[in-house]
Amino acid sequence: MTLLPSPKKIASFHPPLRTLMGPGPSEMHPRTIAALGQPVIGYLDPIFVGMMEELKDLLRYTYQTKNPLTFPVSGPGSVGMETCFVNLVERGDKVIVCRNGVFGGRMIENVERAGGVCVVVEDTWGEPVDPQKLADALKAHPDTKIVAFVHAETSTGAQSDAKTLIALAKQAGALSIVDAVTSLGGTPVLTDEWGADAIYSASQKCLSCTPGLSPVSFSEAAIARVKARKSKVQSWFMDLNLVMAYWGETQRTYHHTAPGNSLYALHEALLLLREEGLEHAWARHQRHHLAIKAGLEAMGLKFVVREGARLPQMNAVHVPEGIAEAEVRKRLLAEFNLEIGAGLGPLAGKIWRFGLMGYSCKAENVMLSLSALGSVLS
Ligand code: PLP
Repeated sequence: MTLLPSPKKIASFHPPLRTLMGPGPSEMHPRTIAALGQPVIGYLDPIFVGMMEELKDLLRYTYQTKNPLTFPVSGPGSVGMETCFVNLVERGDKVIVCRNGVFGGRMIENVERAGGVCVVVEDTWGEPVDPQKLADALKAHPDTKIVAFVHAETSTGAQSDAKTLIALAKQAGALSIVDAVTSLGGTPVLTDEWGADAIYSASQKCLSCTPGLSPVSFSEAAIARVKARKSKVQSWFMDLNLVMAYWGETQRTYHHTAPGNSLYALHEALLLLREEGLEHAWARHQRHHLAIKAGLEAMGLKFVVREGARLPQMNAVHVPEGIAEAEVRKRLLAEFNLEIGAGLGPLAGKIWRFGLMGYSCKAENVMLSLSALGSVLS
């Protein structure tokens, strides 16, 4: 047997301490970081199972829902998104996707890959989804089975009126799939009050946890739809019928090896949110949004999204004429250890995105962002 030579000159990895003011991941609270380093225990250990039950309760509080089927999918937000689509869409089903940024585009991909027939309601990037356009599309397509939209479009910072969009879907007899990746924990997400049927988020935005978990919640109507499927869910890993054997109310049988330490961290991050109180967390995001807005506007920067439709946790501004966009971000990172976000798709090179998510949403981060940007632009 001849072994390949071992890689040389590799030492332990120690990342720098950055101030994270981009579109996610956000910074983690020291208590959440500490939770990650606790001992590994088995995924069927009764102590672990007790933690899972608490985690589901904490998620129900965060999502403001009584849905029994509320749990974190093992995988990033994209896996939560895909879990919703692969379970609810069957071949030939008509799905209306409202697209006003990058992530609506991903929903279209999901519908098509699941064999659905997609009707796209387009809105300009930076605008919220127009309820009238959805109402018109539902009228033109009365056989629509699902309406899907992004509540908080991270690519632009636009917030859509989830309550109205879900009500329109319901009136037309369609289920709703809601992307709450960037909204959960930062702005009100009222799952039961809105009547959302399938909703997903991600651990690394306003929940300030390690990336790689996607909290989801499903209504009774959504579960009934999954149970009534004529065909098997084409993804074995994401099939809710199978995942429930592990995360369900009564059963606890092996489905996949749960990312235990990440789940400890999510438990701690959600506990922090419960200790602060959801309304206080939402108010904190709004307060610091007003502070960063005042500073950015004082520098002459213009917001991408009009007032009234802006997300406090995602502040997108146009890059001034003649400024080398990427160079500014490079200098912020190199000179100030500060990460901010770039534009995506048609907005690449044209905007900067200042995230204010979860534990990153604090006065010192706002002050650093404004002073560092001011210094680089001067
Ligand atoms: N949906 C939205 C609105 C997002 O902002 C993101 C990530 O930024 C995703 C979905 C995908 O989440 P993840 O990157 O965790 O897979």
